[in-house]
Amino acid sequence: MAFLKPIRLLAAACMALFLFLLLQMMRNPSPIGAPGSKPKDAFASFVRDPNLDETLEPPEPLRRVSGHNYDADNAHSDRINATLLSLVRNKELKELVQSMQDLERTWNHKFNYPWTFINDEPFTEEFKKVTKLQTKALCRYEFIPKEHWEIPSWINKDLMHESANYLEDQDVQYAHMESYHQMCRWNSGFFYKHPALADYQYYWRVEPNVHFFCDVDYDVFRYMQDHNKTYGFTVTLYDSPPSITTLWPETMKFVAANKHLLAHNNAMGFLTDREQRPEHNFQANGYSTCHFWSNFEIGDMNFWRSPAYEAYFEHLDRAGGFFYERWGDAPVHTIALGLFEDSSKIHWFKDIGYQHIPFFNCPNSPKCKGCITGRLTDGEAWLNREDCRPNWFKYVGNEWEPKLS
Ligand code: GDP
Ligand code: MN
Repeated sequence: MAFLKPIRLLAAACMALFLFLLLQMMRNPSPIGAPGSKPKDAFASFVRDPNLDETLEPPEPLRRVSGHNYDADNAHSDRINATLLSLVRNKELKELVQSMQDLERTWNHKFNYPWTFINDEPFTEEFKKVTKLQTKALCRYEFIPKEHWEIPSWINKDLMHESANYLEDQDVQYAHMESYHQMCRWNSGFFYKHPALADYQYYWRVEPNVHFFCDVDYDVFRYMQDHNKTYGFTVTLYDSPPSITTLWPETMKFVAANKHLLAHNNAMGFLTDREQRPEHNFQANGYSTCHFWSNFEIGDMNFWRSPAYEAYFEHLDRAGGFFYERWGDAPVHTIALGLFEDSSKIHWFKDIGYQHIPFFNCPNSPKCKGCITGRLTDGEAWLNREDCRPNWFKYVGNEWEPKLS
């Protein structure tokens, strides 16, 4: 009967294999791609399942980018606590898809940071369906609490309308558009207080209808964290002085009462330059009007959440200029960073090719496609004058850290 022995062994092996497969199916009833699984939800798949068999292949490290020195040491570490962030209206879906496709293609498909969409109205099902199709990362849809968006009680509506007439005469864009004023105030003092962002530290602001031109192969959030950066920008512009006539004087009142908040290595020279556009400085009562163009921002929300910034925002909000003038979140952010943050913590992302009509940041690099190197605008020639990056380089110029190139 010795010939039966191999057959018994074979039967036992088959039984063991069968039991093993059965066990696997019970543990993981919905393999990737099958109905009921969430293959697009890369964030969920990144979170470690304690039930997973340790003998399974570990997941592909998220930031292993070939040929890139910077990430080599960190290839197995976690993603940074960060989200892509877009305040957007339902009617801007097509334009947002344009922005998402560019950013996913050039960067996020390598890192799968979640998208957080925020709106003062509920998002439509179509908006959710179509945006989810643009990414394999987690998408979150959030509603703004009313008290964060409403015009505050201390604003005098009659005065607000009168002021809007005056601003319109001065060619201030969106003077009568209340929602625009609300948006600027929300971006100045509320976005980082949204409950859905409470567990996040870094954000990358993305607007509808912007373009990204260059492949970026490193984790920019990790760059921010590892290099102790608070804020990253691509484009700086002069602002329309009549939209912010009293912003600098109000700021100076606040500073006079809070001198201890000024950063040691601040960017006061940059904020108060009067050589390049003296008339701007004059009309804005001492502020150069040069600002980081905030439709692109990569930032650390701990700065906005600090008591110093909160006190500054409170002061500005009570002064009323978000409604009696048309203070933008860009000059408010810029002034706060320039005064209360060490200027070495502000970074020009030279390598991120970017356009928000009508301005560009277009680096000279084989990684970039679709923009013309060094071109600032494709609008009328006078727009070239609006670039104030030279002002930043003149006073701060902590630029380009070559180890990333
Ligand atoms: P501009 O770039 O200064 O001309 O202003 P935009 O019209 O692009 O608005 C700036 C950002 O705020 C964009 O991301 C818009 O989608 C968003 N936004 C502006 N107004 C509203 C609004 O009333 N509701 C919502 N949900 N988003 C808005
Ligand atoms: Mn815009």
